[in-house]
Amino acid sequence: MSILSTLTPSAPTLTAELVRPGDAGYDTARAAWNLAIDQRPAAVAYPETSNDVAAAIAHARQNGLRVAAQGTGHNAGPLGSLADTLLVRTDRMRGVHIDPARRIARVRAGTLWAEVVEAAATHGLAALAGSSPDVGVVGYTLGGGLSWLGRRYGLAANHVEAVELVTADGEHRRVDHKDEPDLFWALRGGGGDFGVVTAIELRLLPITQAYAGILWYPIQRGSEVLHAWRELTRSQPPEELTTVGRFLQLPSISEIPEPVRGKSFVVVEAYHVGDRAQADELLAPLRALGPVNDTVQTVPMPALSHIHMDPEFPVAGFGDGMTLGHLSVEAIDALVAVAGPEAAFPLLSVEVRHLGGELGRARPRNGALASLEGEYILYAVGATPVPELEAPVSSQVQAVIAAMIPWRARRSYLNFAETQRDPGTFWDALAHDRLKAIKAAVDPDGVIRSNHPVE
Ligand SMILES: Cc1cc2nc3c(=O)[nH]c(=O)nc-3n(C[C@H](O)[C@H](O)[C@H](O)COP(=O)(O)OP(=O)(O)OC[C@H]3O[C@@H](n4cnc5c(N)ncnc54)[C@H](O)[C@@H]3O)c2cc1C
Repeated sequence: MSILSTLTPSAPTLTAELVRPGDAGYDTARAAWNLAIDQRPAAVAYPETSNDVAAAIAHARQNGLRVAAQGTGHNAGPLGSLADTLLVRTDRMRGVHIDPARRIARVRAGTLWAEVVEAAATHGLAALAGSSPDVGVVGYTLGGGLSWLGRRYGLAANHVEAVELVTADGEHRRVDHKDEPDLFWALRGGGGDFGVVTAIELRLLPITQAYAGILWYPIQRGSEVLHAWRELTRSQPPEELTTVGRFLQLPSISEIPEPVRGKSFVVVEAYHVGDRAQADELLAPLRALGPVNDTVQTVPMPALSHIHMDPEFPVAGFGDGMTLGHLSVEAIDALVAVAGPEAAFPLLSVEVRHLGGELGRARPRNGALASLEGEYILYAVGATPVPELEAPVSSQVQAVIAAMIPWRARRSYLNFAETQRDPGTFWDALAHDRLKAIKAAVDPDGVIRSNHPVE
């Protein structure tokens, strides 16, 4: 690795470590969290401060390169070729500061959700984290941020208080509702196209525990369990409850706990913040079906980052998602046929999360992704530890998506889109036009590139 390197003698001095093709550390530096993504950037920079970020952007411009910010590489798939791009990795810009009196977390760009959730919990506070502890806070929040508490509180992006970033012109900005409200609006659900974010301020909630866990059933009971789960979601359950209907086909590897290793299940996950008796009443019909295991219990908030069992280390896989407008009886039948015990190929996970509630309300102060359209969101994923699995896994993921097209909502959700999409599907037409105008104003040369560009 070369420190304080420059690509050309005339370029501005880089203050970040730079790793280039041919350097010993290049393969480590270019690796995304999703190990199946073979990204090969022109160079990788590791800024430690926002001044380093500004210098890296200036250096890229001088060398005719574009700039892509990356926290973890959980959603590196849609980026495409990085041959003309300086990858700015934020791994070394870590840390969270909690202001308990204001209930605000200031989170540096490379911080993972687990760090924020744990820090907030020490003050009796909770953040709108997603299912995985090692997803990056910034990438997740810029794309919207779907949490287990989303039905009650809405998208994480709409709980952002301020964003600090360096834009393509090298300017350091702190934007909020008062300062540069247009750019602040764009950053809340418009993705990473507007600059390199160096820190973000999030509002926290005074919640210390939840009633959450999984009801497990043999996969052969997929149809009756998912029909019963659909009934629960259609009964207008309180917004304090979020449930997931899911097929899980767990590989026989040591990272999976012994009792479920190598076995296939249909499960219902439940996440409830509120009165436990109310949750028990809502879950009673599913419990009456006799799950082989029931782990729903009162847990401290940080436990919510582990219940879904997302891998907490880099893995190779292929997944993709789609938003569903509604789920009819026929939709559940189609899902069971394509992803259940008779599936043509067993995927690690095919899940459907219940949306609605506050997620669906476009409040006037919300950002570019003011609400999530659709009552449900589907995500299908398979592991691809060896290249031979890539074709069967991706064709099975596509088969699941294709089978559910009759129930597809008009909009897709940026964070669950792991393939390139028409950007017009992420936002309504007005919001999309406004995002394009803000991008043109703040980055007229198109220096910053995100995984899901607005153009
Ligand atoms: C196992 C798993 C579980 C998930 N669970 C959820 C969930 O529960 N809810 C949910 O909403 N999503 C979830 N996601 C999706 C996740 O939110 C997206 O993949 C998100 O983009 C990840 O952000 P990242 O920074 O970790 O990834 P990266 O791939 O590093 O970043 C994705 C994009 O974010 C932008 N970005 C990142 N950092 C910066 C920065 N500093 N400045 C500017 N732009 C930046 C860039 O455009 C980048 O291409 C999950 C994904 C996986 C793989």
